[in-house]
Amino acid sequence: MNLESLKAIIGPNVIEEDQDIISGATSDWTRRYQGHSTALALPTSTSEVAEILKWCSSNRISVVPQGGNTGMVGGGVPMNGELVLSLKKMTKIEFVDGAPAQLIADAGATLSTVQREAAKNGWVYGVDFSARESATIGGTIATNAGGNHVIRYGDTRKQLISVEAVTAEGIIVGDIRGLVKDNTGYHLPSFLCGSEGTLAVITRARLGLWAKPEEKVVVLVGLESVEEALDIARLFASTNQDMQASEIFFQNGLALVCNRFEIKPPWGGKHSTYLLLEFAGPKGVLERIQASNHGQILQNTESVAIGEDEASRSRLWRYRSLHTEAISGVGIPHKLDVTVPHHQLPYFMNTVGSIVEGCASDSETYLFGHAGDGNIHVNVIGPNENDLTIDKAVLEFVSSLGGSISAEHGIGRAKAAYLHLRRTPEEIRLFKDLKNVFDPIGILNPGVIFFE
Ligand SMILES: Cc1cc2nc3c(=O)[nH]c(=O)nc-3n(C[C@H](O)[C@H](O)[C@H](O)COP(=O)(O)OP(=O)(O)OC[C@H]3O[C@@H](n4cnc5c(N)ncnc54)[C@H](O)[C@@H]3O)c2cc1C
Repeated sequence: MNLESLKAIIGPNVIEEDQDIISGATSDWTRRYQGHSTALALPTSTSEVAEILKWCSSNRISVVPQGGNTGMVGGGVPMNGELVLSLKKMTKIEFVDGAPAQLIADAGATLSTVQREAAKNGWVYGVDFSARESATIGGTIATNAGGNHVIRYGDTRKQLISVEAVTAEGIIVGDIRGLVKDNTGYHLPSFLCGSEGTLAVITRARLGLWAKPEEKVVVLVGLESVEEALDIARLFASTNQDMQASEIFFQNGLALVCNRFEIKPPWGGKHSTYLLLEFAGPKGVLERIQASNHGQILQNTESVAIGEDEASRSRLWRYRSLHTEAISGVGIPHKLDVTVPHHQLPYFMNTVGSIVEGCASDSETYLFGHAGDGNIHVNVIGPNENDLTIDKAVLEFVSSLGGSISAEHGIGRAKAAYLHLRRTPEEIRLFKDLKNVFDPIGILNPGVIFFE
């Protein structure tokens, strides 16, 4: 890749060629994908992004857009020496005049900065998950990130009012300051949200915010079966409007987290299954939980912990949110982020371990996830990361139950070979036609979503 003519257009400072710096952007968080590149572009404005993409298009240079590089499916890794286009230096956040519950964030602003800016002004941003300090707004839109609060606020798509983006040919599209109601033809944010960097590079987004709840309470319950956990979650969900997170995990994951991070388990006794619920709303959150018909569940002090202040809430959350890091600490996991219909959840969680063992008897399966929306993360340690027998078996099982092979992480490279388990040949053909319209010469994220 001869970058001299690009440097002549946008100046030398935007292009990084130091391998020590580039190497941080060429492998992914899970360590499964190890790529390479000779250059990392770090634009500071939408017009620079447009200049870079115009140049890439004219020179037929493939591009991998990248935000915080926390993606779980290898979508942001330059596996074939592509130019990495990092949005990390574009971090501005501003509120919209006359529209208090909205802000405009540059694509490189992190999720946590957006959350903090929203909170300072009395609002909440509806998306939250534990990679918040690194994941960027552009990356969360590109993957349509879900996270902990989907049952209350919906996924990233539901927060998105408008986007600004640059097409593969360097054309800037999207009316970021435009109108909230605007039915003029196709809806650009819907096309780009979840497109995983294959259609355009997102440069800015206008996001909707929510009123900040006055109080929050976290409840952790130790149980003996998946069925019990799902019943409790369902009971609270149907009667308590404050519920905003409903997470499940199991004894082997809890033990790993406690060992790895040297933290004490919640109680002396062990349980097979753990349910973490978060409630938020006007003052009186705990009283409303206790007053409900099933409030007596909270009276068993041997297997219930309640966090009312920030420190105790985050102590309880750690048991769930440190799973991803703890599992990566013992190996490179096979990561399968799936959804199954609610009525299939107990069968799925009780059976998937034996399916994995049938493929690799020396494996350890960790299950955890967002039980409230049917989204379970199946993480398997043991078999070599390039042996995909387990991945195929689990995804086929999910598909046979009417589930989705990607709940919130996207398809990326990791799931591209299995897209047909969820999408019909006609849908895949339509997707490819759409990709050709946005990116006629195919320079944006080749190999992502579509298996070549
Ligand atoms: C500990 C941990 C916990 C996580 N928990 C969750 C969770 O609960 N829910 C969830 O949904 N995800 C979760 N993730 C996954 C991850 O954080 C999300 O996929 C996140 O949305 C990616 O953001 P990013 O900025 O890191 O994007 P990257 O990893 O840099 O990129 C992800 C994809 O988006 C594309 N992309 C990035 N920026 C742009 C842009 N500006 N324009 C166009 N395309 C772009 C890339 O090419 C790539 O295909 C977790 C990850 C970790 C490490």
